[in-house]
Amino acid sequence: MQITSGLPEGFNAGAYDMIVVGAGYAGAVCARRLAETIGYRVAVLERRSHIAGNAFDCTDEAGILVHEYGPHIYHTFNERVHNFLSRFTKWTDYQHKVLANINGTLMPVPFNHASLKLAFGEERGEELYQKLVETFGKDVKVPIMELRKKNDPDLAEVADYVYENVFLHYTMKQWGQTPDQIDPSITGRVPVFVGDDDRYFPQAPFQGMPQDGYTALFEHMLDHDLIDVFCDVDARDLFEIDQTTVKIVYTGPLDELFNLDLGALPYRTLDMKFETLDMDQFQPVGTVNYTTSEDYTRITEFKNMTGQVLPGKTTIMKEYSKAYTPGSGETPYYAILEPENRELYERYLERVQNLTNFHPVGRLAEYRYYDMDAVTNSALDLSDEIIACHA
Ligand code: FAD
Ligand code: UDP
Repeated sequence: MQITSGLPEGFNAGAYDMIVVGAGYAGAVCARRLAETIGYRVAVLERRSHIAGNAFDCTDEAGILVHEYGPHIYHTFNERVHNFLSRFTKWTDYQHKVLANINGTLMPVPFNHASLKLAFGEERGEELYQKLVETFGKDVKVPIMELRKKNDPDLAEVADYVYENVFLHYTMKQWGQTPDQIDPSITGRVPVFVGDDDRYFPQAPFQGMPQDGYTALFEHMLDHDLIDVFCDVDARDLFEIDQTTVKIVYTGPLDELFNLDLGALPYRTLDMKFETLDMDQFQPVGTVNYTTSEDYTRITEFKNMTGQVLPGKTTIMKEYSKAYTPGSGETPYYAILEPENRELYERYLERVQNLTNFHPVGRLAEYRYYDMDAVTNSALDLSDEIIACHA
């Protein structure tokens, strides 16, 4: 593999069997599989100056490994995904834990047995917990919007508390809308957990951090004789989507390919404020969610996630969410899952669906709220299809 900045003089896209646009999970997984399974020569074009997409990590001025585009915690139930990614990294046994700062008291999120006792006191908390166990069973995830539908005064007491103190303010900050107004799958990502598991991803069998970081994982994944990586290259400067015959795996937003001519796909973006502090540790866990106060949604302390030991210094990051403005240089982080946005996406998708040389995949190109494992899975599926067609 070669990683170069810019394209060499006389770059010939036709000399490659596949052009992959984007060096995040979607692009890197496809590039690797097509190179090693069917011997494709692959050029990966990435408009940023680095590989790894939004999972990119690097060392800051204080020498601390930080996640440049927000905290990334690997977790999956998918064995195929886990086996594939594990070829390129060892994992630490980090288990992500999040505390919500609720009016100054830190409580585990997802809201669980321990949180109930902190919120309602030992005795009442236990009573409410037993009621949840009777109703739903033990070690079960209950989305807040499901819990709110239950017609029972005890369950309503829990639902109201969690809705008001965990979801309402945080969701307003993150999405500019209340939890009732957004797609229930979003709040469903952080269900109430009827049990004692206090990890952010309860029950996920595979979780951890790549031992040497995400960027190193990508360096290994892209390290193949048949893969060339070109950073600082915007693929739109090279191709007109409907006029090119080269084969393309595309992992950017679909609307950008058509200069947003049907309208821009709406996203939320984030301002991330990094601060290095002269102390060993700032907070007890990787992430603290500010669910009843502050303008930012959460604070992440990277050393708590990576396990890095560096006395006297720590770097934290605050996330401020806002609407994304296309063409402003902002990053489109979160697709806004609303039916009219999906319809707009489908109209863009229709335009590329009959292009047999063009394959959209990934969180941007599919306009989905995908975690790293889901993107990897989607890219494995797409590469399976391309490999099957080649055979
Ligand atoms: P991306 O990582 O966005 O990669 C796409 C790449 O394509 C980008 O690098 C972009 O520059 C490039 N590109 C786009 N257009 C062009 C073009 N025209 N020319 C050249 N290059 C182009 N997932 C988890 O599993 N756990 C987490 O804890 C987690 N935390 C997250 C926190 C935040 C704040 C965010 C925003 C996401 C988080 N995710 C997490 C999700 C994770 O980031 C994504 O699932 C994953 O990075 C998506 O990979 P991708 O390849 O689809 O997209
Ligand atoms: N959420 C919330 N309070 C929390 C955690 C999550 O209201 O303490 C809601 C919020 O709407 C958020 C969604 O649940 O956008 C999904 O949370 P998650 O932590 O999965 O978001 P991500 O890490 O993808 O930003």
